[in-house]
Amino acid sequence: MDGAGLPTTRSTCPYCGVGCGVLLRPDGQGGLDVRGDPDHPANRGKLCSKGSQLGQTLGLDDRLLSPKIDGETADWDSALGTVASRFAATIAEYGPDSVALYVSGQLLTEDYYVANKLAKGFFGTANIDTNSRLCMASTVAGHKRAFGTDTVPGTYDDLEQADLIVLTGSNLAWCHPVLYQRILAARKNRGTRIVVIDPRRTASCDGADLHLALAPGSDVALFNGLLSEIAQRGLIDADFAGNVTGLDEALATARSEDLSVTGLSDTDLSAFFDLWCGTEKVVTIFSQGVNQSTSGSDKVNAILNCHLATGRIGQPGTGPFSVTGQPNAMGGREVGGLANMLACHLDIENAEHRQTVQGFWSAPAVPTSAGLKAVDMFRAVGEGRIKALWIIHTNPAVSMPEADRVRDAIDGCDFVVVSDVTERTDTARLANVLLPATAWAEKSGTVTNSDRTISRQRAVLPAPGDARPDWAILAEVGRRMGWQSAFDYQSPAEIFREYAALSGFAARFGRDFDISGLQNLSDEEYDTLAPVRWPVTATRVGGRFFGDGRFFTPDGKARMLAVNHRAPAASPCDARPFVLNTGRLRDQWHTMTRTAKSSRLSAHLPEPFLEIHPKDAARLRLSPAALVRVENDLGSAILRARITDAVRPGEVFAPMHWTGETAPSARIDALVAGACDPVSGQPESKASTVSISEY
Ligand code: SF4
Repeated sequence: MDGAGLPTTRSTCPYCGVGCGVLLRPDGQGGLDVRGDPDHPANRGKLCSKGSQLGQTLGLDDRLLSPKIDGETADWDSALGTVASRFAATIAEYGPDSVALYVSGQLLTEDYYVANKLAKGFFGTANIDTNSRLCMASTVAGHKRAFGTDTVPGTYDDLEQADLIVLTGSNLAWCHPVLYQRILAARKNRGTRIVVIDPRRTASCDGADLHLALAPGSDVALFNGLLSEIAQRGLIDADFAGNVTGLDEALATARSEDLSVTGLSDTDLSAFFDLWCGTEKVVTIFSQGVNQSTSGSDKVNAILNCHLATGRIGQPGTGPFSVTGQPNAMGGREVGGLANMLACHLDIENAEHRQTVQGFWSAPAVPTSAGLKAVDMFRAVGEGRIKALWIIHTNPAVSMPEADRVRDAIDGCDFVVVSDVTERTDTARLANVLLPATAWAEKSGTVTNSDRTISRQRAVLPAPGDARPDWAILAEVGRRMGWQSAFDYQSPAEIFREYAALSGFAARFGRDFDISGLQNLSDEEYDTLAPVRWPVTATRVGGRFFGDGRFFTPDGKARMLAVNHRAPAASPCDARPFVLNTGRLRDQWHTMTRTAKSSRLSAHLPEPFLEIHPKDAARLRLSPAALVRVENDLGSAILRARITDAVRPGEVFAPMHWTGETAPSARIDALVAGACDPVSGQPESKASTVSISEY
């Protein structure tokens, strides 16, 4: 109850990976009063602009309220029967790898778990991937290579205990605002220094002591330079080095690196090295600027190398720290929502792991190798190899690289199912079957934020029309395909208990992810579950990993990797002289299906634009606020020029949010090439090449 005696419900913000707690109070007219939860450990009552405007985004005007088949309203029985029969027939005729699911970090863990179980255990395909592939797959790969598991070592508390925060490839001030505010508060209290490493001068630079505007894609060289400097200054932690392998090889490679590729001055490099080497308590935060790269995994390992060499990991105020974009990107990693993972951080290539999962699920088969990652999945759709595709809570016709090709591929697919809250998306318009799903505040389950804290999302509004929870839709399709007992779920609590029990089996293989301490929660205990950081076992709850120097590799030692700078896949040329960087705005979220409903959020930066340096604007004779055409072989966009020295000469920046629904000429991901990191499969969303001319 609040002070006025009205009932309030604790839930979690549905936007970024900070995972802020919110207090929800229905206003009786279909709306909600939304406040920050003072008791949630992520935000302690604070919310950013997006979270505080959630109440403005709940209107039903654009909601999908009934299933549709080929554009005609249908009942659930017909819609689910069509989905089940078409998937069964496709698998029977063309084999399990002729079908695919493309899902989302917006899914709750329970939804994600059922989707993954249906695909990998019962369809018999690993062709389930997620839009988190575009977000942090390189971090997953880097963690696994170094630590043996996809483990985030630290916690948000470390950000307040550090004396130096390095933000690399992260505009935290706009993309994870509440975390940034926590760091600024720590700076006030203890004088924390902040370094921002980003080709572009962003809002995060406003509070920084040093901004390194490095050349796009040169992070490996920079951190190799740092590793070399660490050794030069005698800062290798000799005690911790016993917990690490590969130090000599990584160091030799680092010493051979040519730092001129960073484009940074000796003065800037020295200032950074002095700060990093001279500060014991360092946290290096990294995000999409590191991950969305053809060398993303190597960038991650170059960062991890520096922390491993100095033993600055697993102790208060230290460590590498990946921040995730979506509310449940971490939950998706944990349930195995990526095409190359099994549930509970088990490995798809490991026969014992597969047998454990298969046995636990009583599944007919679990695939023996990784499925198609997002970019390859949509190429397979375009080539007709995927014949039945189920897209859940994501808009790949806008958000995937080569978005025009992806849109055309989906349009040409034999059978497309879209589960979403609205039919007004570029992707939903291409569906054969549309399934209305419940939205945030109408559905219940759990999410995991960037520091491994599991929080509840809770339903406080009734499901509108015929909308159903995703777990229920997926489970019903599973039952209709003949797997009654495997998908006989009655509630998200039941799914969560099964998932927690599976994690206990996984932990026997020395995996990090273990929430077996939650497997016996009663329905009431699940309903009232307070935020809790994993692992949760009979003997341990939360805390940091690796402080004891033990890792999840076979020999228990971390791996330092020898990684070299590689330039982005595309180089500027006469025909395409500009490097295109894409990213988020402070007040919009993904393809704007929710945030565009808020007039206050839309007022921040109301139209699509292109940041371009004054020298380039002068050379192109652009008038202030001119409309420009941005194009390459993949597509074109018309954007308003914003002439600013926040970007470097030869580089331009455009936000990623606008769609065919909101600004048909501004689908910027149509221009992003599908070049991917060879290890993680994550596409390079920040370094395509384009030409620019006045429109
Ligand atoms: Fe929501 Fe992220 Fe803002 Fe917190 S910081 S209120 S989780 S968008």
